Amino acid sequence: MFSHARPTLSIMDGIVGMEGDGPAAGRLRDIGLIIASGDAVALDAVFADIVGLDPLKIPLIREAHERNLGVADLKRIDVAGEKAHDARIKNFKMPKTLFYYKLPGFIFKAGMSQVNFYPHIDKKKCKRCGLCLIFAPRRL
Ligand code: SF4
Repeated sequence: MFSHARPTLSIMDGIVGMEGDGPAAGRLRDIGLIIASGDAVALDAVFADIVGLDPLKIPLIREAHERNLGVADLKRIDVAGEKAHDARIKNFKMPKTLFYYKLPGFIFKAGMSQVNFYPHIDKKKCKRCGLCLIFAPRRL
């Protein structure tokens, strides 16, 4: 979808951010940061750098970069305002699943092809509308 309709402006509101296993089990954290860019891939790349990750090692960002949907090479991104290294968020908690993204690509794909995803249903809140059944189970 992104390759067909790229946004003119992307804004990441990180005034209050979320770390850890969001969005369901993340933890809110005061960060006080807003990032905006005409290149959403560059925006994600800069944010990855701010939290201490190499954007080109994150599969989604690398794929977008390799498809020329944006720039994720930090050396080619001009950051106006506060520099990423000055805005670095210390001790930003990563999702537990980050481990999987550090695996070599072929192992990651082979492993994910064997994983089924199911919604976690909160029985107290479920209205039994059945919408979640449309999307689950599924394989990547
Ligand atoms: S999508 Fe509908 S059926 Fe599924 S968990 Fe939510 S309320 Fe329940």
